Order: sequence, then C-alpha cells, then structure tokens
Amino acid sequence: MHTRPIWAEISRSRLVANFEHLQGIAAANGAQVLAVVKADAYGHGATLCAPWLVQAGASWLGVTSVEEGVAVRQVCRNARILVMCGIWPGEEDALIDHNLVPTVWTARHVELLAAAARRRKLSAQSLPMHVELDTGMSRQGVGCAPQELEEFLALLRKCICEAPALDVEGVFTHFASPEMLDSPQNFDQAARFAAALETISAAGFRPAFIHAGNSSTLLGQQMLAPLAALARKYQARFLVRPGLALYGYALPFVGGAASAAHLLPNLQPVLCWKTRIAALRHVPAGTAVGYGATFIASQEMRLALLPVGYADGFNRRLSNCGSVQLRGQRAAILGRVSMDLTVIDVSNIPQATVGDEVILLGHAADGKLSDAEDSAVTAPVTAYDHAAWAETIPYEILCAISIRVARVGVE
Ligand SMILES: *Cc1c(COP(=O)(O)O)cnc(C)c1O
Repeated sequence: MHTRPIWAEISRSRLVANFEHLQGIAAANGAQVLAVVKADAYGHGATLCAPWLVQAGASWLGVTSVEEGVAVRQVCRNARILVMCGIWPGEEDALIDHNLVPTVWTARHVELLAAAARRRKLSAQSLPMHVELDTGMSRQGVGCAPQELEEFLALLRKCICEAPALDVEGVFTHFASPEMLDSPQNFDQAARFAAALETISAAGFRPAFIHAGNSSTLLGQQMLAPLAALARKYQARFLVRPGLALYGYALPFVGGAASAAHLLPNLQPVLCWKTRIAALRHVPAGTAVGYGATFIASQEMRLALLPVGYADGFNRRLSNCGSVQLRGQRAAILGRVSMDLTVIDVSNIPQATVGDEVILLGHAADGKLSDAEDSAVTAPVTAYDHAAWAETIPYEILCAISIRVARVGVE
C-alpha cells in the first residue's frame, strides 16, 4: 500500500525514446543493444521498464541477480535475460526454471551449473552461459593471462564433456574508463579482449554473442566499429550494454577530439520523483531548523515541511545545500535532511499551500525537457544536481531511491 504521497513517475515514452536513440547508434555501428535493467532498472522499477523495453525491440535484458531475473521473467516471457553478477549455490533451479542466462567466470560457477544440468538431465546445449573476461578492471571475469585463461577453458571443456547441456553462448568484457575518450586503458582492454577471443576460438568455442561496453561506449562511439568487426571475425553478433543512458543520463566525456556532449540532449530523464507539502509555517528571525540547528533563519521566513527523508533515499548530503522544485520555482533545503522529513524555504513562493506537488528530482511529464539551463531559479532538478550536492554520481542517486517510494508508470 502506498498512500503516503511520495512517488516516482516513470515515463514510458521517454524510456522508449532513449532506447530507440541508443539502438540507432548501435545499429549504425553493427551492434545491438542489451538493455541493462539491473539494480531494479537503476531505481526505475525493472518490472515496469523491462516490458516497455522489450516492446520497443530489446531482445536482451541484463539483471543483477537470479532474484531480479525471476521477477523480470514474470513480465517478459520471451526476452533473453542475462544475470550479470554471477550465481550462488541454491540458485541453479530458479535459473534453469526461468530460462535465465548466467554469467560465469569461476570454476565454482561452471561446476554448479554442470551438477544441476546432470541432476536435471537437461538436453544438449540447453543451458547457455556467458563467460566474462577481466581485461583490466580486476573485478569480475576470467583473467586474460594465458595460463589463467587456458586453465578456465580446460575446465569448461571438462564440464561440458560431463554435462553437454552447458554451452558457451556468449563471451564479454567490461571497460573501466569508457567516458575517457583518450584513455589508453580502453585500447589496452580491447586488445586483451581480442587476444582472449583468439585463444577461446582456437580452443574450439564458437560463441554466438560477443559483447562489451556500456552507455559511454555507445554514446562515445569510437570503440564500436572495431568491436563489431571483432565479433564479425568470429561470426558472432555484437551486443553493447547501455544502462544509465536508457534512463536519460550519462557521465560527462573527458578528452577526445570533440566533446561528445552534443549527443546528450537526445536523452530524456525518465524518472520524476515527487512528494507533497505536508505543513507550512512562518518563523521569525533567529529560528533554528532541524537537527543540530545547522540552519538559523536570519530573517522572517516561510517554511514548508516535506514528508521525505534519507530513508526514502533523499541524500542527507543535500542538507543546507540542495533544492527542490515547486510551482516551477526552486526552493532551498534548510537544515539537515532527517530520516523521514525535510524542510524547505518557500518564502519566495507565497502561493505555496499544503498538498502542493513538489518535484524532488526530474522533469514533470508535462514540463519541457529542454529549458534546463534557462534559469537557476526555475530549472528542473536533475540527478546531476543531486550527484553534485551529494558528491557522487547520478547512478548512485537513482539507485538509492528506496523501496518506500512507489514507482508509477506514466506515458
Ligand atoms: C552496469 C553495467 C553496464 C551498464 O553500464 P552503464 O554505465 O549504466 O551504461 C554494462 N555492462 C556491465 C557488465 C555492467 O555491470
């Protein structure tokens, strides 16, 4: 039940427009999009967003876990669903029952799947897996040092021999610095990926899909054609995996001949986070606001109370520094953001009344998207603003919007 007025409107048309924009760039470079809906679609609600993306033409979706994959499967019967962050003992049956595709990179993953395939007497090649290669992030993936890779391939061969249901359907990697257009790391990683694919091919594996890259890779474009050519060399399809850009945001590009910023206006923020004014009061000069009395009114002021706090994912670092939008104007946050409450300054918005809709983040569905820079007083509040105030990245802002906030689909 969601009756407390704090909700996030998720726009179908904006999500689809972003997807189509990204799919267009991908197609022009010989790639297809794997739409990343992990972390509950970056806080947008995976069960809302995934079906919209599938209807718009996404054939592949990426989720964090088996648990998320099962939830997405309920609403997307036919999509391919890649579980991007590995599998855990006890998840094999759910993975198989819901036709999810596991990412594997350790012996333990492959052995778990082989045992499940044997136990369930699965038919040959009916359990596809995608192998992740660590080409330079020291995070997930099989290391690309020759010995480590050879050992993993030997293990794969042995497990496939014992459990022919297993199939290496995909091989992929992830880039560390794709928004840094001149970073040699991108080219180093791509070179390691190419060398590893050569080894994998020489070992007799024929993955149908090769994938690499995220939103920045796709928007920056420069890596796409070489990666697509690499996939073609092995008669595989090339996928690129945007997440953040689907939801209308992107990291700024660094370096490169020209800033790729001209690509960004084509993205439309999908989420608009709202609440309503709970109460209003006039206070005289000298009044303290909130925990620790970190704000003291220097003059008479009119305050509005919002029923939102850090338990909703409204970052406490916005205390005394962030703002919200109300009746088309910005209103500053006064004092500390509490767990469930936040106070704003409506001294300059005399029409403000109890029950007024307040935009915490995003662009109203009926608002223009392009007037963001018109005026600091009226500009929509973006996830970039929140990220700057909270000293983090838009990803974390969006993912942090808590489960207490209802996600409501709108056109
Ligand atoms: C999260 C993730 C992506 C998507 O990244 P964005 O920067 O949101 O586009 C792609 N691939 C992998 C492996 C990821 O973990």
